[in-house]
Amino acid sequence: MSFGLDEDRTAIREMALGFAAEHIAPHALDWDRDKTFPVETLREAAALGMAGIYVREDVGGSGLSRLDATLIFEALSTGCPTVAAFLSIHNMCAWMIDAYGDADQRQRWLPSLMGMERIASYCLTEPGSGSDAAALRTRAERDGDHYVLSGEKQFISGAGASDLYVCMIRTGEAGPAGISAIVVEKGTPGLSFGADERKMGWNAQPTRAVRFDGCRVPVGNRLGAEGQGFKIAMSGLDGGRLNIAACALGGAQAAHDKALAYMADRRAFGAKLTDFQALQFRLADMATSLEVSRTFLRHAASALDAKDPAATQLCAMAKRHVTDAAFEVANQALQLHGGYGYLAEYGVEKIVRDLRVHQILEGTNEIMRVIIARGLTGGRR
Ligand SMILES: Cc1cc2nc3c(=O)[nH]c(=O)nc-3n(C[C@H](O)[C@H](O)[C@H](O)COP(=O)(O)OP(=O)(O)OC[C@H]3O[C@@H](n4cnc5c(N)ncnc54)[C@H](O)[C@@H]3O)c2cc1C
Repeated sequence: MSFGLDEDRTAIREMALGFAAEHIAPHALDWDRDKTFPVETLREAAALGMAGIYVREDVGGSGLSRLDATLIFEALSTGCPTVAAFLSIHNMCAWMIDAYGDADQRQRWLPSLMGMERIASYCLTEPGSGSDAAALRTRAERDGDHYVLSGEKQFISGAGASDLYVCMIRTGEAGPAGISAIVVEKGTPGLSFGADERKMGWNAQPTRAVRFDGCRVPVGNRLGAEGQGFKIAMSGLDGGRLNIAACALGGAQAAHDKALAYMADRRAFGAKLTDFQALQFRLADMATSLEVSRTFLRHAASALDAKDPAATQLCAMAKRHVTDAAFEVANQALQLHGGYGYLAEYGVEKIVRDLRVHQILEGTNEIMRVIIARGLTGGRR
């Protein structure tokens, strides 16, 4: 289980596992049922350094690696993948500000993001553009020292609750080169939010549209140069995809463990479920699938840490493989519970519902194949 992890990494993983067991898992079903976004719990995680895992230390970040982040998100997700996944989005935004912000922007925003006194959301998707993100239409017109924003973002995790919105906005020509990354602060006149979406899973975090109606934002809120926004957005997603995969893996591990415990107890035809070889083989395949996913995820994370030219490909492969494998394992765990797997109180159906969206967001798994194939063929589409 701890292949390749030194003493420090083992300690990081155990810290996050302990936090998940004590502060997340006991509440996960209630948060799902009541649609509670557990901000105070997120702040407790932040106090342990988990809100800026790979942000530099001068602004309060933990200065850890992408590999460390995958260990943390996998561990937290054994308590609840939804809560861990929101934390991963916040981390992605914080890293974008750390990596592309100037000295003033880093000091202005990062210290409060590290403690989660302020929370961040990532705004790329629009009603008319999801996978084809470079076709986005939300516009920013320059007016002196300000941009005036108009348009709408769709499916924004944390929207309404978050304080900072890292937004990809069109400041120039059509296509990726006309996009800039602009941070919009909550309370800016003209910024508003849609209703909290009713959805299949991920109920412990809100998902809303974000609207800009003549929203005036200082030019000093732009990260990097004009036209650099799409590159910034995509570089954030390499690590984001590792984290989303790690969250799926932790959820699937929890589902697997629940199935194992249940089967050791449940009897049918005069024997325990764990005595049937057909079911033992099912468990063996699930455990193998989780180990393969874990090993490959850590390989991809190490490639990103090493700035390997193949890192984007490997992150896409990891996201595609791990989220598909994890969903399948969780679904099998539900099946192994029989009818009880379908009941909310056993906690497995929630994991299945939560993990489904990991195959869709931060680039669908079809788009992961597009990225992988582009690397193989040199194609552009
Ligand atoms: C709960 C939830 C939270 C989210 N949070 C955020 C967030 O915080 N910030 C944010 O910016 N976005 C967020 N998203 C949006 C998410 O990233 C998009 O839904 C996703 O990228 C897909 O875009 P789409 O829904 O427009 O689907 P479409 O792009 O319309 O795709 C529809 C189908 O066509 C397939 N497809 C499209 N193009 C191709 C192609 N070239 N080749 C093969 N297949 C293709 C897709 O894979 C998919 O199966 C969230 C979504 C959900 C559901």
